[in-house]
Amino acid sequence: MTGLSDREAAVVAALDEKALVDHLTALVRLPSISGTDAESESQHQAARDFAEWGLDADSWRLDLHALRADPRFPGTEVERDEAYGMVAATGTGTPALVLQGHIDVVPTGDPAKWDADPFAAEIRGPGRGYLHGRGSCDMKAGVAANAAVVRTLVAEGVRLDRPLAVHTVVGEEDGGLGAFATLVRGHTGDACVIPEPTSGRMITANAGALTFRIEVDGRAAHASTRLAGHSAFDAFLPVYDALRDLERERNRVVDPLFGDLTLPYGLSVGIVQAGDWASSVPDRLTAHGRIGVILGEDVGAARAALEHAVAQAAARDLWLGDHPPTVTWPGGQFASGRLPDDDPLIEQVATAAADTQGLRPTPTAGPYGSDLRLMLGIGGIPTLQYGPGAAEDAHSPRERVDLDQTIAIARSLLVLAMRRCGTR
Ligand SMILES: [Zn+2]
Repeated sequence: MTGLSDREAAVVAALDEKALVDHLTALVRLPSISGTDAESESQHQAARDFAEWGLDADSWRLDLHALRADPRFPGTEVERDEAYGMVAATGTGTPALVLQGHIDVVPTGDPAKWDADPFAAEIRGPGRGYLHGRGSCDMKAGVAANAAVVRTLVAEGVRLDRPLAVHTVVGEEDGGLGAFATLVRGHTGDACVIPEPTSGRMITANAGALTFRIEVDGRAAHASTRLAGHSAFDAFLPVYDALRDLERERNRVVDPLFGDLTLPYGLSVGIVQAGDWASSVPDRLTAHGRIGVILGEDVGAARAALEHAVAQAAARDLWLGDHPPTVTWPGGQFASGRLPDDDPLIEQVATAAADTQGLRPTPTAGPYGSDLRLMLGIGGIPTLQYGPGAAEDAHSPRERVDLDQTIAIARSLLVLAMRRCGTR
């Protein structure tokens, strides 16, 4: 390690690797799928952990009714009767740095597609190896790294000039409920790092993602006399073609921050439901999907683009002209977000990484929506993502995280925290 002061080098060397891996294992073994009781339990456990490590923890029950009524509410995809927030800080006053992470995870999908129990948190080599399981890379490794930073500072008796805060949030996967609630409660900071799985790259901008629903009417008939009816499935096909064209158009010219990514603004239909009987002509089709929001694009403009494309397709079609499809926007609504290219946080994270790992990450953009846009947009907190694990492994039955990378990034975040908060 070069570039570290003697004090920094000593603190970095003191990071308890086993404690980090044990904590990550415990996190993965709690199946905190968005909207489940385990999601709440994970938040209670986080509050207990940070209190045990000697931090003041603000642990509260979210006022879901009031949050949903807020015009800035980011939307949700799952039902919740209750949810909890958790913020721990090393002192009072505005934190010089926030380390944020979500503890909710997406469902496992078909368990048969996994080669082990998705919540067993199995570690497989070679070397220190990979920890496997749902949530391992997205983003419990990041949450464990955040906690390791705090634990190391406490264990080494490092006194910070200004506070470091850790936000542990729910509901990131389904819209950002937890981050939103945390900001509404008044928690803030001068800068924020979210260790989402970025493969150790720095992500300074996110495309957004808006969940849409399109409903198309048909006319039911017996299949043997199908010409007496009109299939809602057939009626949807020109709409689907229009969506494909719209996706192509929205990805024609993209920001160079995306590098060689060919499709930063994916438009995808994830659920199609039509009909209720094999030998009936379906009289209704419902399609649910997501449209990517362009960097700098207003959410309303993205919605209008999709609604316009659907309306144009309908105007060109005899049946749809008389039976116009409806477009609604239920579920998660992620705006895009971007940290200005000259924000000092970018250089500070890059230098902390270079000084601890000998590798200087460069800024890039991610094609997905995340809490970044809430921290930036609603919180006004300069925010970037820098964390262990590969986004390609997230949400898949291959989900795993590289433990060497997790520990290395925890060390970089530790140095960043000491430098941003100042040490005595
Ligand atoms: Zn995530």
